[in-house]
Amino acid sequence: MPKATQVLLFEFCFLPYLVYIRDQVIVLKKISVREYDRTVFMYGRQHGLIMATARGAARPKSKQCARLEPLSFAEVMVAKGKSFDHLAVAGPVEAEVDFKTHEGRSADSDLCVRAVTGAFADLFLSLVKPGISDERLFALWGELIVALRGPRTGLTVLRAQLMFAIASLRLMDLLGYGPALSVCTHCRQPSGPTDAWYAPEHGGLVCASCRLSWEGFLVPANAHALALLRFARKAPLSDLLRVSLPVDVGVNALRLIREVWKHAPLDREPHGLETISALLV
Ligand SMILES: [Zn+2]
Repeated sequence: MPKATQVLLFEFCFLPYLVYIRDQVIVLKKISVREYDRTVFMYGRQHGLIMATARGAARPKSKQCARLEPLSFAEVMVAKGKSFDHLAVAGPVEAEVDFKTHEGRSADSDLCVRAVTGAFADLFLSLVKPGISDERLFALWGELIVALRGPRTGLTVLRAQLMFAIASLRLMDLLGYGPALSVCTHCRQPSGPTDAWYAPEHGGLVCASCRLSWEGFLVPANAHALALLRFARKAPLSDLLRVSLPVDVGVNALRLIREVWKHAPLDREPHGLETISALLV
């Protein structure tokens, strides 16, 4: 029996809990509770959003400490308590996903990974509630991190913002808040490879013909930006690093995604675009 498993079983023999779960998680956030304890927010492959308190996780010699850093993947066991859940063990992941990074990545690249994933973690925690268990959400995290860790150097601010925004679009698609970008929301005809307009109140496009009689608020949607968004919703996130990105196209794509955010159940607009810009400029 692996040593980590022995320790894990030993700990649980002496815990007064009846129910516990085991899962592979990504750590999204941790907050201080008392001097050395931390409440850890995680998304589990099988159990979705998990919040659990790790006792002593901040002690200098804590073995859990490194495993509980935000954006780490870990195997955990959580004891379900009456008032709060208790995180008993955090061990290394037996990697199914290739989280290897290239040798010699620059500090800019690391900062870029932290900026984009940190912003996405905040948005993720705003939208995903406990009880939503969807392995595709867990896979989205793996895909995002693998994509961001690929380049040896940092991304431009615009491309980093786009990575965050497209990940958010993929998240909203999975949660059912994604916009309709294929057909005109009014005449139901395919919008085609032309410029169109986005109607936020309807969560969809309005074609050039229908626009003439449309009375609601519309946001111009550049044909290339629409093509980029349609592509990005289905392609691996790493492919976004390879597409050409004229500034006007990227800016318009970001504008459209901002409009989509306004109709997601968020208390406030995500801060990610501003945070990424501030960190990477
Ligand atoms: Zn139309």
